[in-house]
Amino acid sequence: MIKENLANVRENIKKACERAGRDPEEVTLISVSKTKPISMLEEAYAADCRDFGENKVQEIMDKYPQLPEDIRWHMIGHLQRNKVKYIIDKVSLIHSVDSLRLAQEISSQAVKKQVDIDILLEVNIAGEESKFGIAREEAIQLAEEAATLPHIHIKGLMTIAPFVSNPEDNREYFRQIRELSVDIEHKNIDNVTMSVLSMGMTGDYTVAIEEGATMIRVGTGIFGERNYA
Ligand SMILES: *Cc1c(COP(=O)(O)O)cnc(C)c1O
Repeated sequence: MIKENLANVRENIKKACERAGRDPEEVTLISVSKTKPISMLEEAYAADCRDFGENKVQEIMDKYPQLPEDIRWHMIGHLQRNKVKYIIDKVSLIHSVDSLRLAQEISSQAVKKQVDIDILLEVNIAGEESKFGIAREEAIQLAEEAATLPHIHIKGLMTIAPFVSNPEDNREYFRQIRELSVDIEHKNIDNVTMSVLSMGMTGDYTVAIEEGATMIRVGTGIFGERNYA
């Protein structure tokens, strides 16, 4: 089932890229494997997935030693400062940086472990109460301040768009994230690039790709519904 789902998602990525005049190579599919057992991740790995997304530190720590080393782990969930030290040398990208204090802790742990870490700034583009992330007005300042910290590199923006039944309803938000990334790029801040736009999930990734996503985070569309019971 996972293999077929992946084939389907990859086909949709290709078609969305065609519509937008983009090269599918520009879009990285992150398989969001939270709550799913190792056996399912192995199946996705066998079908050529190398980027996996998790939203809990404990789950990354559990899964990391059980799977091949060439996997790139993406931390996509809310990250508490006291847990940064557990994943700093395991993840290839932290998508969910939403405060200077978190960026400072990531930097100081990276210095300690002598690793360099790439981060994205999480923007709450629709201003939803229930979501983490900075307001768009705060993004430039956070980029400027976090950019000065050692051993971290700001690579772009991440957003979790509202849960909608019609993905077209999120097009405007994806467009706004892209515009924000262009604004930040134009500031020419040292140590900041805006090459990554992490946006789009199972319900809306094709629209996100049409609006410029370079990373999409797909869980349900690959692994099926999650059971939190
Ligand atoms: C769970 C999750 C996803 C994947 O959601 P699906 O709708 O299952 O594709 C993407 N991004 C984040 C941050 C998540 O927590």
